[in-house]
Amino acid sequence: MHYDVIIIGAGPGGIFSAYELNRLNPELKVLVLEKGRPLEKRKCPIDGKKITKCIHCETCSIMSGFGGAGAFSDGKYNITNDFGGTLYEYIGKKEAIELMHYVDQINLSHGGEGTKLYSTAGTDIKKKCMQNKLKLLDASVRHLGTDINYVVLQNIFAELKDKVEFRFGTMVDKISVIEGGYDIQAGDDHYTCSKCIVSVGRSGSKWMETVCKDLDIETKSNRVDIGVRVELPAVIFSHLTDELYESKIVYRTDKFEDYVRTFCMNPKGSVVAENTNGIVTVNGHSFEDPSKQTENTNFALLVAKHFSEPFKDSNGYGESIARLSNMLGGGVIVQRFGDLVRGRRSNYKRIAEGFVTPTLKAEPGDLSLVLPKRILDGIIEMIYALDRIAPGTANDDTLLYGVEVKFYNMEVKLDSNLETKHKGLYIIGDGSGVTHSLSHASASGVYVARQIVEI
Ligand SMILES: Cc1cc2nc3c(=O)[nH]c(=O)nc-3n(C[C@H](O)[C@H](O)[C@H](O)COP(=O)(O)OP(=O)(O)OC[C@H]3O[C@@H](n4cnc5c(N)ncnc54)[C@H](O)[C@@H]3O)c2cc1C
Repeated sequence: MHYDVIIIGAGPGGIFSAYELNRLNPELKVLVLEKGRPLEKRKCPIDGKKITKCIHCETCSIMSGFGGAGAFSDGKYNITNDFGGTLYEYIGKKEAIELMHYVDQINLSHGGEGTKLYSTAGTDIKKKCMQNKLKLLDASVRHLGTDINYVVLQNIFAELKDKVEFRFGTMVDKISVIEGGYDIQAGDDHYTCSKCIVSVGRSGSKWMETVCKDLDIETKSNRVDIGVRVELPAVIFSHLTDELYESKIVYRTDKFEDYVRTFCMNPKGSVVAENTNGIVTVNGHSFEDPSKQTENTNFALLVAKHFSEPFKDSNGYGESIARLSNMLGGGVIVQRFGDLVRGRRSNYKRIAEGFVTPTLKAEPGDLSLVLPKRILDGIIEMIYALDRIAPGTANDDTLLYGVEVKFYNMEVKLDSNLETKHKGLYIIGDGSGVTHSLSHASASGVYVARQIVEI
């Protein structure tokens, strides 16, 4: 079975590669191999009643399948070079932004029309942040919401399914260089192709490392972001979220001069558990449909850790911290901010008596037993800083879920075509370490498809 192009991974990177390849040259024989399930068969077994905690499915339905890690995400497509990845370093800032706008147009034409594009341009919030030692980053954000994001994916799949071949439940084991292309091995099956696009996201990070080792592709150690997810009454942040939806705010701590930032803000959303390579961490999302919204807003507060020689395993460091929280809490731990600063563990009673109703069933515990002091101190400092622009953030009942870890893939050595030293082998999306977001991953997919068709 020989194909012109094989795409590994059906996340946003893989989907947009397939979409653009087919649009530009419908004659190309394209195969997408995906270890997860088709969109409609993706279902996390946690129902909040019989199953309340992660049961470590073989492939996590939240992270894998058509739509990738983005399928049940909040569908926030940030159009910016300020965060979400460093695609612009490879392809230039102008082209990166143009591609993100192009992706936005495709989303709009596949069910996203009518959704709102928020922008930081001209907002007074920037000044208020600056006056309180906080920096608001510039961005436009299209908020599809989990529900519309799902519809967009359904529509894109419906359009592609007869033009591009999809094989779900197919975990690729090995990529080998052969004459004129690549042999792709999945279990006992072999597929060959002239060009291969690898777009395996964060859930494919470990596998990506073995591929790079096998094919002698240089990688460099990246960073890991560690922190907590904050949940509070939506009204406390409403002046920010009504105008900007998502505000990416950075704070530089007094004590260690570390940077702490807000990440993935979900107005009226829910906190969720996610499983990456068997480790349960926390995340969040929200719906566009008001009937599915909650009374709470959640966002992450993250501290970036970069390591220098001789230590290279930044993800291993993040995993160890997440494992510690899994060991103590059996999964995600939740703690009231008031309990954290008083140095005591939260319990069910105090959480139930509080004014914030948790949207995720997590084990009450003590995050100070999990997070390194320097990280925890930074988070506490930032909560007080945010309290100055959104009074109430530092209330005792504010909930902190831990741990939130953003694993970054090793950054793979790529040229300006996002091509490895092996001609015709491209690595895109979060799996390349170049992107960390829906819009950047999708844009990298379009970019590579155009490179392939133009050759
Ligand atoms: C709960 C949640 C909410 C999020 N919210 C947002 C948001 O609002 N905005 C935002 O910008 N980003 C968000 N993100 C991040 C965003 O989803 C990712 O940045 C984006 O999905 C990356 O796309 P990708 O195609 O590179 O990788 P992924 O989406 O991770 O897709 C990779 C695919 O490859 C498959 N795969 C992996 N290894 C193999 C293999 N060996 N063989 C076959 N298939 C394989 C996986 O099953 C997966 O489906 C969120 C993530 C999560 C988990």
